Amino acid sequence: MGFSTVAIHAGNEPDPSTGAVSVPIYQTSTYAQDGLGRHKGYEYARTQNPTRSALEKNIAALEGAKFGFAFASGMAAIDTTLKLVKSGDHVILGDNTYGGTFRLFNRILVDYGIEFDLADTSDISNLEKAFKPNTKMVFVETPTNPVMTVTDLKAVSDISHAHGAKVICDNTFMSPYFQRPIEFGVDIVVHSTTKYLNGHSDSVGGFVALNDEKDAEWIGFVQNGIGAILSPMDSFLVLRGTKTLAVRMEAHDKNGRVVANFLAEHPRVEKVYYPGLVSHPQHELAKRQQSGFGGMVSFETGSLDNARKVLEGVKLCTLGESLGGVESLISHPASMTHASVPAETRDKLGITDGLVRISVGIEDVEDILADLDQALS
Ligand SMILES: *Cc1c(COP(=O)(O)O)cnc(C)c1O
Repeated sequence: MGFSTVAIHAGNEPDPSTGAVSVPIYQTSTYAQDGLGRHKGYEYARTQNPTRSALEKNIAALEGAKFGFAFASGMAAIDTTLKLVKSGDHVILGDNTYGGTFRLFNRILVDYGIEFDLADTSDISNLEKAFKPNTKMVFVETPTNPVMTVTDLKAVSDISHAHGAKVICDNTFMSPYFQRPIEFGVDIVVHSTTKYLNGHSDSVGGFVALNDEKDAEWIGFVQNGIGAILSPMDSFLVLRGTKTLAVRMEAHDKNGRVVANFLAEHPRVEKVYYPGLVSHPQHELAKRQQSGFGGMVSFETGSLDNARKVLEGVKLCTLGESLGGVESLISHPASMTHASVPAETRDKLGITDGLVRISVGIEDVEDILADLDQALS
């Protein structure tokens, strides 16, 4: 079955008690039991909720995974996944992950005995050098946020498996519509559903998708044991969001390409980061690994002052954190999403004070271009 058919039907069975076509929001904390030890498979809503189960089936199917788990946020999903490693284990983390992921390792997990090293995984020889005898996991994001560096998922999976390490891929930027990491050998896919999967900037959530039964059992156990579950209302919203994922991603991609090309030719813009541009150093890899380039575009304005003029000059684009919603959002990575990344690391990555990131929405593209043009001028 095609992607859109799966998106609309997987997990979306008509409600057994009423026939409701849309999965109801089961806003309940508990379930009446027929007798001692006799129930309908639902005991307590942290452990099981039908709205959440429907969403878990849905996104797992979209990622080509057997198992899926929905969480209260992308960070809760990532933290739960990190419960697969134990004190004394070593993790290789891409050097340009989402700022919150870096902070989780750098400020929280280190105190629990999880060792980690950063590596620029876009160059496999860097990754090779980072392995240690106790490396149990490699965590990558591709394309990265905000400088859009692409990592070869097949190469990372092959080399990591040869070292006995699992590969986790944060697939938030591409969504399963444009990139399905499991097809390249990745073991576990994580998401912030807050972004494209929900797509309407009205819910915070996270997801873990995987095929390994033993790991899935542990993730499910930790999901219930720690309890950072996605609420019924949010599960409903994301389930509604994924039904239009294909059409939204097509629209984001179409607008993203136009905006990237426009910026690349704009005299006030020094550099554009977008894997869809032939000038992007990994354009060929992106074409091979992704079926589209999406709506995330970053560009260099040259200085904090120039960046401020753009960010405060836009009228249609909204200045704000987050991404992946239908509306265009514009942000300043150095002071917003990546403020928790040390300044020297930011410099090394190209996250300069003049860098501006746009999550290109699905408005009429002429209006987005006109807004950027007037702000740049
Ligand atoms: C937003 C984001 C996260 C964190 O997700 P939350 O839902 O905000 O907790 C993780 N990874 C990426 C790539 C993100 O964009």
